[in-house]
Amino acid sequence: MPVSQVHVRAQLENVTNLQAPGDDFQYCIKTKCGSCGEVSERWQYVSGDERVDVPHSRGSCNMTVKCKLCGRVNTLDVQTDKKQKYTYDDVPNFKVIISFECRGLSVVDFQFGKGWQCEGVDSKTPFTDLDLDEDWCDYDEEANCPVGITELEYKVT
Ligand SMILES: [Zn+2]
Repeated sequence: MPVSQVHVRAQLENVTNLQAPGDDFQYCIKTKCGSCGEVSERWQYVSGDERVDVPHSRGSCNMTVKCKLCGRVNTLDVQTDKKQKYTYDDVPNFKVIISFECRGLSVVDFQFGKGWQCEGVDSKTPFTDLDLDEDWCDYDEEANCPVGITELEYKVT
């Protein structure tokens, strides 16, 4: 089964374990039809806890995408068991944080969006509901130090 993977990297300042919490996290992606090559215009949201029926089958999946150009219905599943945290030790390398199982399509773009979380390296202070469409910074009262996530990058393979 073809798999699309999202690799990320970032500079972490006094925080670690950057992750998309919960199975209901909404990943923001764009997909490309494997039949005709059409890339979805709009951003699509998919989470591992949503189930929809696969047309003409008894199965279900996390998302169906009907191609605007050729009309084919393709499906996608979030591999929530393959989800990874991006840690302080991973800097400055890329790491796969999530994978998608793709049938008839591939994931070609990704947007961080909202809802991310991380924690203080030593204090373990939780920071939640981060909006990573831009750099994030805050202050860890417990550890008495500034915290932040900058230079976010991603690639999809
Ligand atoms: Zn198509």
